[in-house]
Amino acid sequence: MNTLQNHLKRIDGKGYKAYKSIQGNYKFSKYQLYIDYVQGDPFASPSRIRIVIPEAVRPIRKEWRENKHRKIYVADRIARSVAVAIQKQSSQAKGSGKSGLIYIDRPGQEILERTAVMIGSNEITICFSIGLPANGRRINGQEAERVFFKHLPSILSVSIFSLSEEELTESAHLADQHKEIRKQMKRNGWIAFIADGSILPRQSGISNKPLNSAVPFKSPEENRVEMAIPHRNKPLTGMAVKQGINLIVGGGYHGKSTLLQAIERGVYHHIRGDGREYVLTDENAVKIRAEDGRQINAVNISMFINNLPHGQDTKKFTTENASGSTSQAANVVEALEAGASALLIDEDTSATNFMIRDARMNALINRSKEPITPFIDKIKQLYVDRNISTILVMGGSGDYFDVSNDVIMMDQYQPYNVTAETQSIVRNYPLNRSFETVNNPLSLAQRVFLRDSLAVYKGKKKKVQARGLSQIIMGKTTVDLSYVEQLIDNSQTNMIAEIISYLEKKKILDKERTLAELLDYLESLMDEKGIQIFGPFPNQHPGDLARPRRFEIAACLNRMRGARLK
Ligand code: ADP
Ligand code: MG
Repeated sequence: MNTLQNHLKRIDGKGYKAYKSIQGNYKFSKYQLYIDYVQGDPFASPSRIRIVIPEAVRPIRKEWRENKHRKIYVADRIARSVAVAIQKQSSQAKGSGKSGLIYIDRPGQEILERTAVMIGSNEITICFSIGLPANGRRINGQEAERVFFKHLPSILSVSIFSLSEEELTESAHLADQHKEIRKQMKRNGWIAFIADGSILPRQSGISNKPLNSAVPFKSPEENRVEMAIPHRNKPLTGMAVKQGINLIVGGGYHGKSTLLQAIERGVYHHIRGDGREYVLTDENAVKIRAEDGRQINAVNISMFINNLPHGQDTKKFTTENASGSTSQAANVVEALEAGASALLIDEDTSATNFMIRDARMNALINRSKEPITPFIDKIKQLYVDRNISTILVMGGSGDYFDVSNDVIMMDQYQPYNVTAETQSIVRNYPLNRSFETVNNPLSLAQRVFLRDSLAVYKGKKKKVQARGLSQIIMGKTTVDLSYVEQLIDNSQTNMIAEIISYLEKKKILDKERTLAELLDYLESLMDEKGIQIFGPFPNQHPGDLARPRRFEIAACLNRMRGARLK
């Protein structure tokens, strides 16, 4: 008999702590089971186990793992099948607390590099969390036996062991298509591509699934491009957004923000059937918004803000409670510091005084009194001097016509190119204001996070932990990431928390690096060693991690209270 079975019989009915003795690994006919961590009581966070399936039992075709990109898609497909199998499983073990719970980190609409399923060179690892069954606080060994010998095997048999070759091949093909689209975007200098027929709107503010009955996207002729991609007979057609300054205009409720949101999310890849599977955006595009109340640490916002009351220094601006305009300025500067190639901005979530100041207001408030150089006076300089593109939703001010390369109007959810009209308007109604690019050069200095930046959570409660999608608890303080809109998956937040712990544990900040160098370093670790190395215990269940972009890692560092910089 399997030693795990014996073990469970022996501890049946004992106090819950006796479960600790089942930690270890056990051989099953088709896989090896690793019980890495056993929860302390039935209500605590669930136990961590891994199922490791040898290559010989569940072959993974060589071509499915011939490159990392394909491997991520195939692993994602397997994780989804396991999640569906768990959901369909009708009989669950019963008992107190989390008894009988079987959980896998289920992917959302995006395909992210994730630790839920990892494809190695000779095996596949699947990471589960399970609630070890109890009656009250006593071990229920019989139910535990059912979890390990009945429920888990049946979940695996209807998921990873029955996924067809076609399903996995289809995932590998989508990987190829996305890669090819990105390649062509780069070659042609497009920062975004929205395929004809895409479904952009979502069901609701809380559902990321496509809206049924939505008007499919149809590209304007002037922006329409065609590209041949692999595994598809007909070429893909759609709208290319070129590098430069792109404006999205149109009446209220005509679909402007929906288009920009799809573009924001296009930095990630979506599953087939999402409606945005062929909406892709330059991976270094960063959403910029106002974020009143955020922490700012020694950021040089002087390209936008000068002469603050009381002579506050804007070359090293620090505050625990930023205003709309200073927060938006810091968000721009920090994005550039981390290496953004394009800025995505929606008027709905911008500070008006950061975006525009019209001729009349200019006439009233003279330059020395008004601390803000609005974004409109910087947008061109950013592009010309630094090749930073912008996609901007602006239905409320035509001032931006003067500085735009391309203007798209949304009308009844359909885009039209109105660049020619806006240019004739610019000629017929010249602006009565001059642009102020003078005297405040682009300030793109690099900061260094010093080693004692992480000191705030040292001491007794030395812990960094994610809570949901948008909070990271660091000791006694909380970093709020609610307005970091391209952070989209709880497991990304989890991983950022683990990265912060890693920085502290491995004393990474002892070596002084600029923020961009630090981010490069972290990304190279992920690329070379795999994201699971950020898990708290080496070679065990790494926790539910999904790879964040460098910008979202930076967003957390930038919002830490008590960070020390030079
Ligand atoms: P705007 O920013 O121009 O004011 P939104 O993008 O917020 O408009 O869209 C307004 C509403 O229209 C939203 O509820 C959105 O879900 C819906 N919507 C957007 N695009 C489409 C579409 N293609 N088909 C159907 N409904 C859409
Ligand atoms: Mg809007």
